[in-house]
Amino acid sequence: MFDPKALYKIGYGLYIITSKEEDKSRARARYNGQIANAVMQVSAQPVIIAVGINKQNLTHQFITSSGHFAISVLEQETPFPLIQRFGFKSGRDIDKLAGVGYGWTAEQVPYITDHSLAYMAATTIGTADAGTHTLFLGEVTEASILKEGVPMTYDYYHRVLRRGVPSTAPTFQFTEEKKGVQSVDKYICTVCGYIYDPEAGDPENNIAPGTPFNELPDDWVCPVCGAGKDMFNKGI
Ligand code: FE
Repeated sequence: MFDPKALYKIGYGLYIITSKEEDKSRARARYNGQIANAVMQVSAQPVIIAVGINKQNLTHQFITSSGHFAISVLEQETPFPLIQRFGFKSGRDIDKLAGVGYGWTAEQVPYITDHSLAYMAATTIGTADAGTHTLFLGEVTEASILKEGVPMTYDYYHRVLRRGVPSTAPTFQFTEEKKGVQSVDKYICTVCGYIYDPEAGDPENNIAPGTPFNELPDDWVCPVCGAGKDMFNKGI
């Protein structure tokens, strides 16, 4: 048997991985960051950390290019907009660092200071191909506590905050239901895979059962990832 729910039992944290790409002219570098859950220390001497990053992501391109990255450990109280900014938007569309607090590692990689308990800087020493993702192994060259607090766990994010993950996350579940929505009345969130079912409505957000998608208020957002109505596609 293969029960995908078994994989939910693996424990993770929630992190922002940042990196840089040198400009061709070296006049100025570009910077980006993204949310990742697949982060772990794998060795103590030297301190080596492993990070899984989706190959489609701009941060993947930047780490591959520069060989340097930083990890910021998010606190449990991290507000969803910060997670949304780094987890559900692409650095190809927006400057992820705009309006966010950050510092610089010795290698001039930004690390996030907003709602971050600690950061580490790492230099890539190896990679492993992991299908949709690459596992980057990095030797940790800097590590610092930014403030005391409780780290956000992936379980807390899902269970207490009731938020979802983008389709580029390693834990995204490609369920049969999400592959093809059967009813034309249902709409699917292209960001996180959430399905709006008019029969069920969205009672937690005061949308009564039986409300068609086109009668949802304009400011209604995906209850899982916060995406707007324009990010939904009609079911097929
Ligand atoms: Fe969504």
